[in-house]
Amino acid sequence: MNSKKFTIFGDPIEHSISPKMHTFAIDGLGLDASYSKTHLEGACRLRTIFLEGYDGANVTVPHKEAAFGQCDEVRGVAKEIGAVNTLINEDGHMIGYNTDAEGFYRSVLDFGEIKTALIIGAGGTSKALSFILKEKGIEVTVLNRSQKRLKDFKNFKTFDWESYESSYHDIIINTTSAGLEEANLPAPKPIMIDLFSNTKYAIDVIYNKETPFLKMAKEYNIPTKDGADMLLYQGILAFNLFYHDKYTFEEVLPFMKKAFDPTAT
Ligand code: NDP
Repeated sequence: MNSKKFTIFGDPIEHSISPKMHTFAIDGLGLDASYSKTHLEGACRLRTIFLEGYDGANVTVPHKEAAFGQCDEVRGVAKEIGAVNTLINEDGHMIGYNTDAEGFYRSVLDFGEIKTALIIGAGGTSKALSFILKEKGIEVTVLNRSQKRLKDFKNFKTFDWESYESSYHDIIINTTSAGLEEANLPAPKPIMIDLFSNTKYAIDVIYNKETPFLKMAKEYNIPTKDGADMLLYQGILAFNLFYHDKYTFEEVLPFMKKAFDPTAT
């Protein structure tokens, strides 16, 4: 029997719904495989644990950059982003990919044509999203509360709260963790009012929660999305890497989507 083993590495990991998503796909497609959670406080043993025990894995906060550094080979957009969220064991070699970026791009495409985007936040997620949107020909502006991390965005128009200048963007994307724990907007109210007065769509990458950002967007009658589709789509793309594109995106989607339905079994 050739049962495949997959896992997700992270800290914390309890909250992750990736095992549920992948298990629904494995069962739905009648595959012989299992997908577990691996709680890893430090990343130093990630490579050994992965290569000794798994055919494929996902990596989540805070290990994406460390995993990138431990790969034998990094493929695709992950090379530019500097972070991997998907690992493949190729004959004892750890190969890294980033499906977060493409997953996010697909979730933006659901809105229709986008030419300009403003991303709030300048952390790891913002880096991945700004890179993929720029690569797809979208003009990206980055707004962050402080200057320090904006140095990583040399090829983009950037503002901090002090230097912010008003202009129109097709979509506003919140990649900060403001709204995750506390009821904060990701920028001061006058800036948020200006942003929502000058956009068509809004996305928050936080999922399964109506953040103050999404609540305010709805008050402006702006179509919104949370990060659930991004999470779903990155999972499907990772699954297709695990199975070498044996299944299409559309074949995997209905099974993985069940993980977001609390009544699904
Ligand atoms: P980072 O810690 O790398 O970056 C956080 C950024 O947000 C920084 O630019 C920081 O600004 C800014 N920030 C933090 N708190 C506030 C605040 N209260 N007000 C304004 N700005 C703030 O985080 P990540 O990029 O790794 O993750 C960001 C979010 O994305 C998390 O909530 C995470 O859950 C979510 N996420 C969702 C995914 C999905 O699949 N849906 C995938 C990956 C991440 P400064 O530079 O000034 O410190």
